[in-house]
Amino acid sequence: MRLLAVLALLPSLAVAQPTRTIWSADVPKQQQVARMLTWLEQNFPRQVEEWIRIAEIQGKSEHEQERGQYVRGVMEQEGLAVTVDSIGNVIGVRKGRGGGPSVVFAAHIDIVHPLGTDLRVRRNGDTLHAPGIFDNSASVANMLAVIRALNAAKVETRGDLIFIGTAQEELGLRGMTYWLEHNPKPGFVVAMDGGLGPINYGALGIYWTKYFYRGQGSHTNTSAGKPHPARAAAAAIQRIYEIPIPTGQGGAVYNVGQIHGGSIFNGIPEEVWFSVDLRSVNPTLLDSLDGEIDKRARQAAADQKLTFAKEVVNHERAGGTEEMLRERRAHPLVQTAIDIQAWLGVQTGGRDALATGSTDSNAAVIRGIPSIAIGRSYGGDQHTLREWAHWPSALLGAKLTLLLALTMGGAAGAGGVPVQ
Ligand SMILES: [Zn+2]
Repeated sequence: MRLLAVLALLPSLAVAQPTRTIWSADVPKQQQVARMLTWLEQNFPRQVEEWIRIAEIQGKSEHEQERGQYVRGVMEQEGLAVTVDSIGNVIGVRKGRGGGPSVVFAAHIDIVHPLGTDLRVRRNGDTLHAPGIFDNSASVANMLAVIRALNAAKVETRGDLIFIGTAQEELGLRGMTYWLEHNPKPGFVVAMDGGLGPINYGALGIYWTKYFYRGQGSHTNTSAGKPHPARAAAAAIQRIYEIPIPTGQGGAVYNVGQIHGGSIFNGIPEEVWFSVDLRSVNPTLLDSLDGEIDKRARQAAADQKLTFAKEVVNHERAGGTEEMLRERRAHPLVQTAIDIQAWLGVQTGGRDALATGSTDSNAAVIRGIPSIAIGRSYGGDQHTLREWAHWPSALLGAKLTLLLALTMGGAAGAGGVPVQ
């Protein structure tokens, strides 16, 4: 808490002055740290096996309990204080000796693939193939490997390390949001989600809304001049796509991804609806576009004398543009993660940090909690049946997690955030 107060008083630092790292190349030279890194390397085949095992457990959002049971079992074996909350998050606390901020590591355990999807993992050289192998089974395995490495070295941190297998991330960060709403504010939140690459320290705002048009319906023969939900929806979509999107201010994108209604050729449907997926890092722009879309959608209903309704399916707020988050960029958590990645040789495509992200970290960012999202391995095609992961690079993900736990958690000889 005191750290946060001090940070708030610091003058805003330019993006080009990343001076507040707590990483140093001496950290991995510490005997205990070096031993843990070696432990991860030596046990990496076991980590990959466990990763495959986790990936083959069904885990559609809201049905991720079996994966949760697995995570819980390992955490208990490793002596963490484990609880499962009512939404299904599995929380394992590794107590610190006190005097440091707590660090949350959150890896979501749910996947998007429906129950019954063939999740068998196929190994082909350096790649693993299966739905959910990358997003987010890789991070769950990284998290469990790090817990074991910390225990094998009997390392003690100042702050508590709180490991969470979060539930229902894919439904709009529900598990993480629930945990943050029901627990004391943690010092830092590290979401383990996404491909290895730039560190994400912001939050992409994502609004999902359904717009409904309802009327009496009618046989085609008597339909002339009658209110028509399909015509209203078509007009609304047309007008929504005419909204000018400002360039700059972080930008925005949107997409009408679903149109539904009607079931026969020869009648006006009683209901037609469409969905909008609207995204921006800029909270002001996001809300103003959401308002403009709402206005145009309603007007189309009024023009056709139809009943209008809307359903907000997801309302993840935005964290802010790069400009708005300048101080956050210079936070020790962000800079330390960047420096660790550079030391590990993680490929970032020339951008070491981005003021965006759409992971469990977003729920923390919008609550003002210092938070980042880190990658798990290289890979791609997540949320499709073609999903794949480059398995050797998961070792980088595990090492990155371990070194963040040691530095941010304030392990002896590994830096530590100066809270005293
Ligand atoms: Zn994910």
